[in-house]
Amino acid sequence: MGKTKHTGPVKLDQSLKPSLWASMLPMGLGKVKPHHIRDMMKVAYENRDNLSYAYRILTQGVCDGCALGVSGLHDQTLTGPHLCASRLNVLRLNTAPAMDPKWLEDVEALRKMDSPALRKLGRIPYPLSRKPGENKFTRISWDEALTRIANKIKSIDPKQLAFFLTSRGITNEVYYTATKVARFLGTNNIDNASRICHSPSKSALKRSLGIGASSCNYKDWIGTDVLVFFGSVAANNQPVSTKYMYAAKKAGTKIIVINPYREPAMEKYWIPSIPESAMFGTKLADDFYQVHIGGDIAFMNGVMKIWFEMEEANPGSAIDHDFISKHTNGIEELKKHVMKYSWEDLGKSSGLTRARMLEFATLLANSKSGVFIWSMGLTQHRFGTDNVSQVANLAMLRGFIGRKNCGVMPIRGHSGVQGSGEMGAEPMSLPGGIPLTEENIQHFEKYWGFPIPRWQGDIVGMMLENTLLPEDHERKVKLLYMSGGNFLETMPDPDFVQKALEATELRVHQDIIFNTSTLVDAKEEVIILPAMTRYEQPGGGTSTSTERMVYFSAEIEGPRIEEAKAEWQIYVELAAKVDPKRSHLVRFDNAQQIRDEIAVAVPYYDGIQHLKNRGDVFQWGGAWLCEDGVCPTEDGRGNLLAIELPELRKPQGSFYVTTRRGKQFNSMVYSQTDPFNNADRYDVLIHQDDAAGLGIQEDEAIVVHNAHGVFKGRAKFADTKRGNIEVYWPEGNNLLPKGVYDAYAGIPEYNTAVLVEKGESYYACKDNEYVIEEESEDTAV
Ligand code: SF4
Repeated sequence: MGKTKHTGPVKLDQSLKPSLWASMLPMGLGKVKPHHIRDMMKVAYENRDNLSYAYRILTQGVCDGCALGVSGLHDQTLTGPHLCASRLNVLRLNTAPAMDPKWLEDVEALRKMDSPALRKLGRIPYPLSRKPGENKFTRISWDEALTRIANKIKSIDPKQLAFFLTSRGITNEVYYTATKVARFLGTNNIDNASRICHSPSKSALKRSLGIGASSCNYKDWIGTDVLVFFGSVAANNQPVSTKYMYAAKKAGTKIIVINPYREPAMEKYWIPSIPESAMFGTKLADDFYQVHIGGDIAFMNGVMKIWFEMEEANPGSAIDHDFISKHTNGIEELKKHVMKYSWEDLGKSSGLTRARMLEFATLLANSKSGVFIWSMGLTQHRFGTDNVSQVANLAMLRGFIGRKNCGVMPIRGHSGVQGSGEMGAEPMSLPGGIPLTEENIQHFEKYWGFPIPRWQGDIVGMMLENTLLPEDHERKVKLLYMSGGNFLETMPDPDFVQKALEATELRVHQDIIFNTSTLVDAKEEVIILPAMTRYEQPGGGTSTSTERMVYFSAEIEGPRIEEAKAEWQIYVELAAKVDPKRSHLVRFDNAQQIRDEIAVAVPYYDGIQHLKNRGDVFQWGGAWLCEDGVCPTEDGRGNLLAIELPELRKPQGSFYVTTRRGKQFNSMVYSQTDPFNNADRYDVLIHQDDAAGLGIQEDEAIVVHNAHGVFKGRAKFADTKRGNIEVYWPEGNNLLPKGVYDAYAGIPEYNTAVLVEKGESYYACKDNEYVIEEESEDTAV
């Protein structure tokens, strides 16, 4: 843990700098860009029945959108307001009233709706039950609901019980309680949403640097020599990050983006809270390196090869030898490894020439500081952990670790997700993210006072697969208990997911709203439990941001869903139903008691117990992890790792496809049109020359297919790397294979090879309509 403390927000330099302007036309007239004022009006209209509560949430609560992190309207990076459209879009989840009970009478009618339409129905009002063959949900009491769940838990092997927690505003208190109760109930089958976003970041950073989180702060972006985004569209997914980028540009920072698609949002952005930028826009990226999908490892091996070549010609010209000799292991093995690759192989895999790699390598070699940021473009691969370790390799070779304006940062998309693993809500860890070793198990058995299972629990993908095991298999998941989430729209192969959900005997959805997965049958029963939002929970709650700030969000006065309960309370009551005699071991009477316990269970969270008032925050680990190069590994040194080029499994004539986000918050879609490129959700982003080779014109029907699925859409020309296409997530998830995971982190593979055809030549659909008709935002599928 670092000794230096974060020094709080700095003032933004608001002087004009025309050289950064994106357009001389005011307000981006005629440009494709988000319309922030129109969006704000729309949000105000949506929340018109609860405007004062909405205002209090925005001004008093900790944002439940992305994990950039903000309390009220102020963050720890820049003074001045912090607000974005993503936060405004999710606001309605908090202010909506309970749904009209008439909807609960007709499941078939509900099944005709998509998730955006379902969430507009409003909040889940009370506990509900539905058995196979029933077309309606039946209201049941909390006592009845928890008794039925408890009876089922008692009737099955604990290995057949699985918990999952998404990050929809979920607090550290909820993750911690769920972690503890799952182990109390005898299962290690507990996982969380970070499994499908940043789990490789944690596994890679642990093995490379001994840390499981960002090593630096957003403040380090401002004034660093170079800010590199790998596979990240922070401007879209963490919108206020553009303000930090603006500040960085003003301070002379160069911004580089490594991505197959020249993302318009990273190229230029009109930042609404900065008058100069709102008027003329801001050029963000100084350069784009358009790698192949999956080509990052080769690109980074090429960069390192150039550095070693530079060193041979001119020692000290590329590598920080002082840092390497004092703080790392493995330099010789790494050098031998990267030097073995031919430029031909590196070029083929990365899609970039040696000349381009040389440009990037030289830029970094001439930089005295750098911050490396990444997102799903690096992590959502079956080699996601290797991707991230390559970034750590680059950072260590340049000594960009553990000091001001330097670091590695997995930028997170969900407000609670950083804390989920730190609270132990995963199958291979305990609170603190420590591994499930005998020593650690014994430590927690002593602290908690009950036995913890020794067997390895399953990651979320395996939980779903295990629902389909034979009846008598000891690992067949019979009870799947989900706190939020919609696997139908987040996991690969939705048809398989549907079967897996149907194969559960009892499925519990603890949530605030309905989504499409809530409506799937189970063999015996589906029970729905109404949860409170983070702003409703008595005693408030905390969430941890990407930069490790633990923010306290106080309970906010406002309307309540009468029967909704704090999620931590539901877990405690369930444990008491299953085992009343021992229930005192997992009992919490209030949120403060949980924070008090977290402070002891997770030593680096010491301080959480003092967070009591609006705006309270502390950063665990200090300003920089690995400060002065000292890593929390066994020998205090970082590990340079030799990473093999991945086999890309792309047969001749096929394309590689990846998924991208439009106007959405994670899987929640807020518009059928992407505000940055005007693409429709069923558009396929393809390079014009690739399309010409297939005889496809813009806007023509196009079919993307492989052994896993068929995606029918419309060609949209875009500046993607040739040979690579992009489809929207989750619409394109049917093209993705199930059961392919990163070996270390268990994240599913979200990229695959596909064939692309002109719609009219695709035989299987010859007589069908290919192009999805434009539909209203309310009802579009
Ligand atoms: S950038 Fe993220 S943390 Fe900030 S307001 Fe938007 S959603 Fe919330």
